[in-house]
Amino acid sequence: MNKNNISFIDLQSQKKRLAGRIEQAIHRVLEHGVYIMGPEVAALEKQLSAYCGAKHTITCSNGTDALSLVLMAKGIKAGDAVLVPTFTFAATAEVVALLGATPIFIDVLPDTFNLDPNNLEKGIEVAKALGLIPKALIAVDLFGQPANYDQLEPFCKKHNLWLMADAAQSFGARYQNRKVGTIGLATATSFYPAKPLGCYGDGGAIFTDDDDLAAIIRSIRVHGQGKDKYDNVRIGLNGRLDTIQAAILIEKLAIFEEEIQARAKIAQYYSEHLKDLVTIPKLNENTTSAWAQYTICLKNQNREKVVKTLANLGIPTAIHYPNPLHKLTAFKHFPTAGTLHIAEMLAENVLSLPMHPYLDMELQERIIAGVKEAVALEQNQQAQANQQNQSTKVSNVSAA
Ligand SMILES: *Cc1c(COP(=O)(O)O)cnc(C)c1O
Repeated sequence: MNKNNISFIDLQSQKKRLAGRIEQAIHRVLEHGVYIMGPEVAALEKQLSAYCGAKHTITCSNGTDALSLVLMAKGIKAGDAVLVPTFTFAATAEVVALLGATPIFIDVLPDTFNLDPNNLEKGIEVAKALGLIPKALIAVDLFGQPANYDQLEPFCKKHNLWLMADAAQSFGARYQNRKVGTIGLATATSFYPAKPLGCYGDGGAIFTDDDDLAAIIRSIRVHGQGKDKYDNVRIGLNGRLDTIQAAILIEKLAIFEEEIQARAKIAQYYSEHLKDLVTIPKLNENTTSAWAQYTICLKNQNREKVVKTLANLGIPTAIHYPNPLHKLTAFKHFPTAGTLHIAEMLAENVLSLPMHPYLDMELQERIIAGVKEAVALEQNQQAQANQQNQSTKVSNVSAA
């Protein structure tokens, strides 16, 4: 890779830091040969529970299956409605639809990008008007910050819904005095390589304090097994985490808390220097973020042009997400809780900057300077275009 190009997410620096520990961990699995449900899987589950405080950790094949396993265990089916934010990764709503149930799309807040608690009642009304039974709410902790659980929990209680946290981006974060993994009936996370805690392939986990739910999820994870693997008592999945991935995650978990701290520092530095220029992500009081993404919202600047200028400076960016789910071909026939204006505005204006724990000060400065330059250039061009418009109007007037 060109030395001048910055990585959007840099996995090589982490690998270097771990100095062969991951290779050794993989080698140990190759030696003992228990590739499926080997000892590293149980060891990782224990360590993850210790890390976040959840009574049960059930690792699984990926973050999408983590969501599915919970919905399946709770018997979500056709005729059920599940409230989901529209501004998220497709998997959050996809799993609901896959089971034949109906996702109801809810709008989000402009500053935290998380569920707008004031739009939830409308979601219940819409579900009932369609003859659906509202069963659950999936809250997404978008870009790493936990959703507004203080408001979501009483709402769920009032309407007798169970709550799942889609923490694919927020594992490692904290909501007041609670760690992500201990909020709601169950929490689902992902170990996709680019997530804050990622493995070298696909992986995921479910956290819950509910003994019965944990037992059902463990059964569904292996084809609905009963007392053994040829005693199938329910319809399930092949949803296990590979032993090699568990071994890799054990090594990464050892340095995860430090990485979360490093991400927080970088985010703070970005925010300090960009706050007068663009809308910076808002962190709620007593809340930390895992900073899966550092996402800004442009104020009237042309995003395409800003992206191009940054790319020319060797600074990669990404758009999370270019469309709210309710606008996508796969989802546009599902109901929404009214017009979801904020999500639509965000989809047009958000921009994610490089974020990983190994961005040194020099790179941070270069990225900040790059954003300043790109935004200024765009504003100058806009001002010039406006001036030209004005003078054309004036000369048209004098010609008339
Ligand atoms: C990544 C992600 C998922 C899906 O996780 P996979 O491991 O890729 O299946 C689900 N929800 C959100 C919000 C995500 O960011």
